[in-house]
Amino acid sequence: MTEPDPATTVIDSSVPHPARRYDYWLGGKDNFAADRESADAIEAKFPGMRAGIRANRAVLRRMTEYLAAEAGVRQFLDIGTGLPTADNTHEVAQRSAPQARVLYVDNDPLVMSHARALLTSSREGATDYIEADLREPQAILDAARERQVLDLSQPVALMLIAVLHFIPPGNGQARAIVRTLIDALPAGSYLAATHFTLDFMPPEEQARYQQLLDAGISDIWPRDRAAFATLFDGLDLVDPGIELISRWRPEAQADTTDPSRISIWGAVARKP
Ligand code: SAH
Repeated sequence: MTEPDPATTVIDSSVPHPARRYDYWLGGKDNFAADRESADAIEAKFPGMRAGIRANRAVLRRMTEYLAAEAGVRQFLDIGTGLPTADNTHEVAQRSAPQARVLYVDNDPLVMSHARALLTSSREGATDYIEADLREPQAILDAARERQVLDLSQPVALMLIAVLHFIPPGNGQARAIVRTLIDALPAGSYLAATHFTLDFMPPEEQARYQQLLDAGISDIWPRDRAAFATLFDGLDLVDPGIELISRWRPEAQADTTDPSRISIWGAVARKP
């Protein structure tokens, strides 16, 4: 037996991974055949995925702009970063606040291999990247303290953009994760989150999506508005509250795509 080559065992290109599938849907090149097959299988049954993901990327930008320019946030903990693409969180934040500091976290080793693109901070600010898993929030906090790019005694915007839906529903795990992270941050911190939902779909489409989950074809777990709302318990929602992401502080040229094609809830809230 020969030793496995670490370079090939770290990144397994035969198993679809959310970051690479997302990259494919956004039109990127950092994905493998298994990712494209998985993405196409989901989109064949639910053709909204691509529009939803574009709208998600747009609301990530609007939320980050709001936090940096209007709310005055200077630190961002962005978990479920994704592969670098246009308008990464630090680029958007540092446009209005060059001194903004961003710690990125993802559990896909491929993101790590592209992380250099996330580390192109302004001179006044800082960025860093750690490979860690959202399901172990305490480990993320410990690593964040060690890295020192963020000062956790000062307000932080916790960005959970299109990542909580990888935590299966049913046992309150997503809520517990958010709670652990928010509890570690001071008053004046923010939570920005987006989350896939079936709420806008007609019943037959909901049933079709449920079949994808039951068959293990999709690992993107929807939550309804009420379940999404519980993630913000104890926080003060920022206007307009929980909204379909294309309607969350839209720009003049609002995205008028049919809500069922977008199917993602979003909200920003402040820790009092
Ligand atoms: N936040 C970005 C990318 C979303 S894609 C955006 O909204 O544009 C979802 C990302 O979450 C992927 O990069 C995937 O690798 C990451 N992810 C999925 N499950 C995760 C987990 N348990 N821990 C950390 N990251 C996770």
